[in-house]
Amino acid sequence: MKIIGIGRNYSEHARELNNPLPTEPVVFMKPDTALLKGNAPFYYPDFSNDIHHEVELVIKICKEGKYIQEKFASRYYEEIGLGIDFTARDIQKKAQEKGLPWTLAKGFNGSAPISEFVSKGNYDLKNLKFSLDINGTIRQSGTTADMVFSIEHLISYVSTYITLKSGDLIFTGTPSGVAAVQKGDRLKAFMEDQLMLDFEVK
Ligand code: MG
Repeated sequence: MKIIGIGRNYSEHARELNNPLPTEPVVFMKPDTALLKGNAPFYYPDFSNDIHHEVELVIKICKEGKYIQEKFASRYYEEIGLGIDFTARDIQKKAQEKGLPWTLAKGFNGSAPISEFVSKGNYDLKNLKFSLDINGTIRQSGTTADMVFSIEHLISYVSTYITLKSGDLIFTGTPSGVAAVQKGDRLKAFMEDQLMLDFEVK
């Protein structure tokens, strides 16, 4: 399986990092070795001093497709979850300054904690609220209503270039409020009022 990430898909978040709003989705990938499941702890890596949290809605692709038309895209995912797109902001900044890829800043081990997946049928996907609480304080909260590019558009766009297969995950972008995590932090992510992720930084 593969993990597709979408950058700058919420305008407030693009602004907070002084990035222009994209006219097309910003796409990157993480390897499957980035996954952290079952609320396993995240071990802070030695190579960065500025790991940022980015809570995101994650969709799980349920059948193979390419050149998927936007009007049919909803057939290609049945389940949704939450994930953290951990980002080594210091490494990403250096890469951006040189116009180099984000791979190491986004794809390092453990950089993609994910929740269990739930049926999308019980949620209003056009206005799905989700949030991240760290040590008891809400640090990020967003709604899919604020996405720059819809889930269906992302599926259509990505599948034009990269065949999507059952089990692939798409991290659909983070709302504003990203900041550094520290060893000892406890992260809890909520979809509406439902606790989806609960793990520690060690
Ligand atoms: Mg992200």
